[in-house]
Amino acid sequence: MDALDAKYPFFATAREAVADAAVSLPELVAADAPAVERARERVERALMDGTVASESGAFPAESEYDAQAELLSYPIARILVSLLDSDPAIEKYAAAEAATAISRIREDLATDDELRSMSTPTIGLDDVLAEFDLADAVQPESPKLDAGGGGATATGGGSGRDPEHYWIAVGPYLRLTSPSWGTSWRLVNRALAGGEVRVAREELLDALEAAVEDRVREGLPFELAAGEGIAAELESGVADLKRLLSERTYAGPVDVVAPDLFPPCMRNLIEKAERGTALSPPESFALMAFLVGIGMTPDEVVAFCGDTSLDAEGIRYQTEYLSDDRGTQYPPPTCETLANYGICHNEADHMQVAADPLAYYEQRVAEADDITDWREENANAAEAESE
Ligand code: SF4
Repeated sequence: MDALDAKYPFFATAREAVADAAVSLPELVAADAPAVERARERVERALMDGTVASESGAFPAESEYDAQAELLSYPIARILVSLLDSDPAIEKYAAAEAATAISRIREDLATDDELRSMSTPTIGLDDVLAEFDLADAVQPESPKLDAGGGGATATGGGSGRDPEHYWIAVGPYLRLTSPSWGTSWRLVNRALAGGEVRVAREELLDALEAAVEDRVREGLPFELAAGEGIAAELESGVADLKRLLSERTYAGPVDVVAPDLFPPCMRNLIEKAERGTALSPPESFALMAFLVGIGMTPDEVVAFCGDTSLDAEGIRYQTEYLSDDRGTQYPPPTCETLANYGICHNEADHMQVAADPLAYYEQRVAEADDITDWREENANAAEAESE
């Protein structure tokens, strides 16, 4: 087991290191070993801050002992996140592992050759590509083509300094990137030659981040019997994480209903429903989760959606579920999930601004000088009607 295994615990060698260490995860958990606390921190930081780096900044690990705790915290974190029983939590966790990994990979790639040593173990781009079976699918562009910006032939080799551009086989390109990242990612807007797509170095790293995310998400959630074995040992840690999630999502700082500041995805859904068109189940869930997430009660949501295709009974059922103790563990879907459902069109590339519609709305509310609250307007209208 070495520091690289701890740094990139989802790599095949790290998995082997865990197997070779012959440690029993249930025993570690029962003994409340340091890896357990670090695993809890890993998941908490992922869900709250979008990173799994330790808050103490204790990485790279200073000793073999730290490296072991860091490495073993990864499989335990995967068990913890499985026990949260929430698909959005798994998604956030995988995204945070990937974001942390890619920033470490960036640092490794920037490390000068002379500084590479056993005491500061780093990986190279070739190692990362090989890890994800991309060694043959990604070729660096030759300096000459790079400088000229033209040419249609991918060139292999890539010794010496890392080039600014690469050519990636179209299959992996489509698998690892998404048009929802912005129009520049659409295949029609790319240089394409001989079944390969030209990408800038930073774009290649974005694709590798997606590969890490897929790897982390693979196999989650684990099937674990609640209240038994390792699940029972981790019960209080899981309860703490669920409480944090619900506080973060539903005791939210935004308690203002300003439809003018809603993100485009939500405005589109409301307009669609106002035109009398039925919303699909994912569309209706996304809208309800958002409205509950900004602090609206079921009664308010029913009134707000009064002149739409949504029926009051369905709204009440869904919003009550989202507002109750079971529902609070489900944060609103992320922008990425909504893009996968075709709900988000990422207008003006604003997915860069926030990871989910609620965060985007919070930001717009914080920036707004003058806010008209629908609740006040609604109360005034009701009062005028009763006079
Ligand atoms: S990027 Fe996010 S907030 Fe913006 S439209 Fe898409 S889902 Fe909504």
